[in-house]
Amino acid sequence: MPELPEVETIRRSLLENVGAVIKDIKFRRTDIIKAQDYEPASVIGQHIREIRRRGKYLIMELEPGYTLVVHLGMTGRFYMQDENAEISASHVHMVISLDNGYKLIYLDPRRFGGVRFLTDPECIFCRMGREPLSPEFTDRYLQEICRDRKVAIKTLLLNQHCIAGIGNIYADEALFDARIRPDRPAGSLRPAEIKRLRKAIVKVLQASINQRGTTFRDFRDGYNKSGEFQELLQVYGKTDCPCKICGQILKKDVIGGRSSHYCEHCQK
Ligand SMILES: [Zn+2]
Repeated sequence: MPELPEVETIRRSLLENVGAVIKDIKFRRTDIIKAQDYEPASVIGQHIREIRRRGKYLIMELEPGYTLVVHLGMTGRFYMQDENAEISASHVHMVISLDNGYKLIYLDPRRFGGVRFLTDPECIFCRMGREPLSPEFTDRYLQEICRDRKVAIKTLLLNQHCIAGIGNIYADEALFDARIRPDRPAGSLRPAEIKRLRKAIVKVLQASINQRGTTFRDFRDGYNKSGEFQELLQVYGKTDCPCKICGQILKKDVIGGRSSHYCEHCQK
């Protein structure tokens, strides 16, 4: 599933389309439209003024009062290709033609993602937690959202109302980097551990963005190219692999309904 670094990578690769005018928008399936405050066809003739990200959402700002919000779900891709190139991929559900020689393709085999045509996207973001790469994501904030919570720290990291954009990959990687067991109650973390964890979260997210995200199966950037952070993963998906620090075989547990990989020796 695309998480913050993958969505940010897509955003950056699509930035060259800022300023372009939408010539046409076509749907092959309309059930990917999860919300519409206005007719999708009214974006025709509008400029793409900005492309932003909030958590795992990509936000295309059009004329004032018109935004197109894209969520990639489990298997979604949103990428550009030459206007004249044939669309050979399957599961393409939306095609946006631009006046700069490109078209934007939305593809999603499992259709857990979708698009929203909203007048004000803040209505879906107002209850979302802070952005982990923003200055507002401080030790004190992390301490506050963990305080007195009995829930596993791993589960808390995945809660989008607490922190925006972290999923299974980066929760496992950040907890390994911070040497904290994923099943520890969030409220049991000491101030020094909170500090380590906040640093680790920022570090792994930034490192992944630098490698243009993690591609296991589906993720592609805005040019439809794979990311490279999978080469640098320490624990996520490493069933039966030895810990890169101590050599002990990593443990796999289900925590809060999600499979989690960690080292029983290195993480306390
Ligand atoms: Zn270890």
